[in-house]
Amino acid sequence: MKLLIDKVMQEGIVLDNEVLKVDSFLNHQMDPVLMQEIGREFARLFAGQSITKVLTIESSGIAPGIMTALALNVRLIFARKRKSLTLTEDIFVEKVYSFTKQETNEITVSRKFLAPGDKVLIVDDFLANGEAAFGLARIVEQAGAEVAGIGIVIEKSFQPGRRVLTKAGYRVESLVRVASLAGGKIELV
Ligand code: 5GP
Repeated sequence: MKLLIDKVMQEGIVLDNEVLKVDSFLNHQMDPVLMQEIGREFARLFAGQSITKVLTIESSGIAPGIMTALALNVRLIFARKRKSLTLTEDIFVEKVYSFTKQETNEITVSRKFLAPGDKVLIVDDFLANGEAAFGLARIVEQAGAEVAGIGIVIEKSFQPGRRVLTKAGYRVESLVRVASLAGGKIELV
């Protein structure tokens, strides 16, 4: 996706040689035209998979997730990182270690939104160690539903996420693959 690659190269800021800050178009300010293109691209990549739901995690996964759900004409569910006071019903819970916050969060999804027979596309903004995607996949499997694939906006290919998810049998499609952030320089695969 040229539009996304250009944004990453022009606006991405490297922190600590392994974290990419993209708050001008993805993680704080958001670019809706770019998000729409991202959603269309995931819909194209996973066309023909009979996807019934898109699943992401709050908050940065919601924008690419909703655009993907729109393009696939299905609904989006976002896992919550904090237990909501209004979330009184039965929930699926998984523990996820956050790469950027260096803490473990319990992520939750209401049981009423996932069921056996669902084919779920997981979408997230970044892939580092694969913790978030794995936690979401475990929730899909707790529900007896199927993971159709994992769509990632920016993959850091120098971290193990893709390898561990692929080894576990999941199809991973990343729109941008970053080979290295060493020396403060963004290099793509
Ligand atoms: P993982 O769970 O694969 O280890 O890390 C992915 C999650 O951590 C994403 O949901 C994303 O929020 C966050 N993350 C990981 N690496 C980066 C990064 O380089 N930049 C930003 N902005 N977020 C990241």
